Amino acid sequence: MDDMSPIQWPDNARCAVMLTFDFDAESLWLSRNPDNARRPGVLSQGVYGAKTGVPKILELLREEELKATFFVPGWTAEKYADRVEAIKAGGHEIGHHGYLHEWVDPDYPDKEREALEKGLEALKNVVGVRPKGYRSPAGETSANMIGLLHEYGFDYDSSLMDQISPYRHVLADGTPGPVELPWHWSMDDAPYALFAIQSPRPIHTNDHILNIWKAEFAEIYRWGGLVNILTHPQIIGRPSRLAMLREFIAYIRTFPNVWFATGEEVSAAWTAREQA
Ligand code: ZN
Repeated sequence: MDDMSPIQWPDNARCAVMLTFDFDAESLWLSRNPDNARRPGVLSQGVYGAKTGVPKILELLREEELKATFFVPGWTAEKYADRVEAIKAGGHEIGHHGYLHEWVDPDYPDKEREALEKGLEALKNVVGVRPKGYRSPAGETSANMIGLLHEYGFDYDSSLMDQISPYRHVLADGTPGPVELPWHWSMDDAPYALFAIQSPRPIHTNDHILNIWKAEFAEIYRWGGLVNILTHPQIIGRPSRLAMLREFIAYIRTFPNVWFATGEEVSAAWTAREQA
């Protein structure tokens, strides 16, 4: 089938919308630079995501009656078990996001397997979850990692940016791999609002971000695809940013026939259509 043809979503929806939250906490800063372990100021940016961001996001999702997907590194699950339990109790999906947010390095395939296994172990031990989805830390992955996801029985990956609709990976030996649920930096909060003292960049207004998000949504809606919104509790969890997310959801709801879904629901719906 033509990869560009509109997807037939459940309930004849024109497009699917995934709200995803990468719950990195301090692992974001520790993976960037292990020396940050001695910098409580730097780390506190990640702590905010756990202390304040996640509870406020869960409150918003409850009020909006929406289910979301939280990609959680194993280290974060172990440190913030109560938060991950609350995510699960809220009926949200928990996906794999590495162990300590390790950046995938194609020169070290053994480390990819180790991080994948440690992450699985942590999510099982802390919340008894066997994740169906994986998102690589920091927007990079490898062919080896896609193969590992297949080997470990994941339904989907959400790490690449090559389409606006889901598709199925094909492994090097021709075997069908996981479904890909693509994303893009423009629908990520980090490029606009993640400031770091060692790599400072402008902090954008909500209007700036919403302009891009609304325009992308409207056009993907017209095309008929997947709107994969990627945010982080330590960024979107700031008071005014949460207000922005609420406004964005309200904007999306002015369009008829939009299907809000978790990653596993999108992957399952796409797979059912593939097999029809
Ligand atoms: Zn992350």
